[in-house]
Amino acid sequence: MNLTENFTLNELVYSATAEKNKIDNRPSVQVIANLKSLCENVLQPLRNALGCPIVITSGFRCAVLNKKVGGQSNSQHLMGQAADLVVPQKNLKDVFNYIKSHLNYDQLLYEYSKTDKWIHVSFRNDGHNRKQAIDNYKV
Ligand SMILES: [Zn+2]
Repeated sequence: MNLTENFTLNELVYSATAEKNKIDNRPSVQVIANLKSLCENVLQPLRNALGCPIVITSGFRCAVLNKKVGGQSNSQHLMGQAADLVVPQKNLKDVFNYIKSHLNYDQLLYEYSKTDKWIHVSFRNDGHNRKQAIDNYKV
């Protein structure tokens, strides 16, 4: 099932950790609606502007999965309002800055760990988007 032209429901709920640990990460109807809003308002416009693939590393997480990957208990991943992504063909900081200045979002984080870096972006379809951007969020 496609949520928008370039994004499928599958890629926004897939998790290798869930698969490995036999966690049932199937989304509710509400979560699917939230994921669709995230795609329509952020991910697809970003994809159109970049003109190259965006790799979703984490989208929706059920409570069990969220706990397993060490997510915060109030994470927007739990509601299907957030996605973590990388863009192999682009400088990730440029992608971060593009979202920051051109798109509507709730929270935008340039996250990094010892071994990795990715963008976390969230969107709320109730109109209460805070536009909070943090460009060096260590996890
Ligand atoms: Zn995230």
